[in-house]
Amino acid sequence: MAQKSSAETVSVSTPEQRLTPYDEFNIPIPREEFPEQGMSARAALALVNSECWTDANPMLNLSSFVTTYIEPEAKELALQHFHKNFADPDMYPHTKGTEFQCVKWLHDLWNGPKDATPYGSATIGSSEACMLGGLAHKWNWREAREKAGKDTSRPNMVTGGNVQIVWKKFLRYFDVEPRIVPLRPGNYRLTAEHLDKYVDENTICVVAIAGQTFTGEDDDIQEIHDWLDAYEKRTGISIPMHIDGASGGFINPFLYPDYKWDFRLPRVQSINASGHKYGLVPPGLGWVVFRDRKIFNEKLVFYVNYLGGEAATATLNFSKGSAAIILQYYQMLRLGRDGYTRVMRHAVENAGYLRNRLVDSGFFKIMNETQRIPVVALTLDKTKAKNFNEFDVSAKVREKGWVLAAYSMPADAQSVNSLRIVIRPHINRNTVENLADDIERACEFLSKHGGNVKPPELHDPYKTSPVKC
Ligand SMILES: *Cc1c(COP(=O)(O)O)cnc(C)c1O
Repeated sequence: MAQKSSAETVSVSTPEQRLTPYDEFNIPIPREEFPEQGMSARAALALVNSECWTDANPMLNLSSFVTTYIEPEAKELALQHFHKNFADPDMYPHTKGTEFQCVKWLHDLWNGPKDATPYGSATIGSSEACMLGGLAHKWNWREAREKAGKDTSRPNMVTGGNVQIVWKKFLRYFDVEPRIVPLRPGNYRLTAEHLDKYVDENTICVVAIAGQTFTGEDDDIQEIHDWLDAYEKRTGISIPMHIDGASGGFINPFLYPDYKWDFRLPRVQSINASGHKYGLVPPGLGWVVFRDRKIFNEKLVFYVNYLGGEAATATLNFSKGSAAIILQYYQMLRLGRDGYTRVMRHAVENAGYLRNRLVDSGFFKIMNETQRIPVVALTLDKTKAKNFNEFDVSAKVREKGWVLAAYSMPADAQSVNSLRIVIRPHINRNTVENLADDIERACEFLSKHGGNVKPPELHDPYKTSPVKC
């Protein structure tokens, strides 16, 4: 038998086989026209990933409440379920069943009445959940007004200037008049103080927040509730409350079980929470839960048979992946009340540590005296920080990879700037110590050299409060 020459061995390698990753990943991407030809999966993976290299590191992004860590088992579970369309309950009845199980557990966690029928939905986030809550109240208000033969043309909703942007979207998208109680420097929450100027017979609901976006505080839920009781006594008009518990919904029940912010208050008819915030599921998952089935008008429910079998749909979105819902079920089973309590306690303690370190540095004043969720909202103490602002601090620590939100407060507290740090459960004490060191060093550097970042323009549609006190 003739021996193969070494030249022959080399010649079996085709030009494609000789391509190294360096050649293959160096393909120009057509930016203006749709790509004519494809590429190998390896090249596509490498190209897409390389474009994201300069994105922020999600673990260091402390401007966001959204979960960035899950256990390997949870990842495995997500991969197994992410291609199941949640809108197809006929094919995936057990996946749909996990949604109702979570709704029932949340109804229990939020102290829904035992004799009520729990009702609610998984949504793509709290935004969709808020819209559904708002819609339910708009429909209930309108039906009651029609029954009484009264005008239904001018619904309004009352809330504080500290609301998350979704409520401003809701008001505009669904044609509800905004009655937004302005903030003022030093008070960043909705209280009962000015409600008499805002609430009337056309108020579909009052939205109060548990764990607000700006300072992490809760609105004065009990005081607002009591004020609405007195208002009903005085006028005969009964106004429901919706609680935006995007963040607080997964913290209050665990850390402050005696605090009444939820369905224990009879006027609270609906609550939303973000499964992808302190529910500890990656994006996107939200929840809306109603006190009872009857709060959600049956006319908002559609029945469709496109996917085989009949399916009820009452969300703004139709198709979506099932993984986030399955993961919420996993987390609830995995952690239980006990596990969530420990996780949230660590997060709040770490936030407390950071807050004390930064206040003790002398550079900062704390904005939230009544903190329940692990958010540290600070404003610079101008007596010590004379030549730089909150935006400078945010930009300076960005050099280390930290992303901290700096912003001016909503109307009428827009003269106050805030530096906000969201402590999520993956941030341990060690990391918080590093962060505190880096912020202190940034402030010392800026004290010496001065800052030069101009606060960005406000794009809020309500730069000043739409209704004056
Ligand atoms: C995050 C947040 C929202 C919006 O929720 P998404 O889950 O991002 O859609 C609404 N309200 C509050 C108080 C929030 O913190």
